[in-house]
Amino acid sequence: MRKALSFSFIVVALILIQCKSVPLSGRSQLSLIGNDKIFPMSFDQYEQVKKESKIINGTDEARMIKRVGTRIQRAVEQYFREEGKPNYLSDYKWEYNLVDNDSTVNAWCMPGGKVAFYTGIMPICKDELGVAVVMGHEIAHAIANHGAERISTQYAAQAGLATVSILLTGGGSGPSIPAEVIMQGAGAATSLGILAFSRKHESESDKLGLYFMAMAGYNPQEAPKFWERMAANSGGEAPPEFTSTHPSHDTRISDLKANMPKAMEYYRKSQ
Ligand SMILES: [Zn+2]
Repeated sequence: MRKALSFSFIVVALILIQCKSVPLSGRSQLSLIGNDKIFPMSFDQYEQVKKESKIINGTDEARMIKRVGTRIQRAVEQYFREEGKPNYLSDYKWEYNLVDNDSTVNAWCMPGGKVAFYTGIMPICKDELGVAVVMGHEIAHAIANHGAERISTQYAAQAGLATVSILLTGGGSGPSIPAEVIMQGAGAATSLGILAFSRKHESESDKLGLYFMAMAGYNPQEAPKFWERMAANSGGEAPPEFTSTHPSHDTRISDLKANMPKAMEYYRKSQ
């Protein structure tokens, strides 16, 4: 009995050690895998997507995607510098591309800052502010390491006690997680084969995305309007994060409004 108790104490302690906290939200998340393992795979996958898709270059829209992305990137880098964490984003290799695909109402940012917008989402974005809403939200998924967290929780659930034994015996490098588990968890890039982020992750990205667009000098009050337009859009092949049920539309709008005062502080500071 005593042995069992001390064993579970060790397990709990190990899990706590393997947690880190999400920037800005402060939420604690399980982290069994580092970005040094995820980013190279993510970058390979992004190259694959670029090969298999028609990337648009040189148009006003394509330039706008790069402009908005770079502006939010710089604002986020500035934020981490001011927080005393200048190296937080040092392994990122930012890239912003527009994919020619009118039937896909989607955009994503893979771990490490690899962004794609599909032309199908552009009419709902409507203008640069709408693009900034989506860009902020997608970049927030990456900055908050939602991919790594999903891999970690999936792996912990699948491996169960095996993970614990690896943690108990393993060295400083952590458990060796099979490549396919990593790909699955990080896999934003398989165009429509996207795994839905949890409601918790969506809400967190809404909040951080709102702050990020505001830090970049885009008026965050545009965000609820964008999600209204998205909810009204019933056609197209939108992934769950862009549909009105996930999180529920009303919750999404009221949460955005609750976070608006803080976002407006960032916005005023950026002006
Ligand atoms: Zn999302």
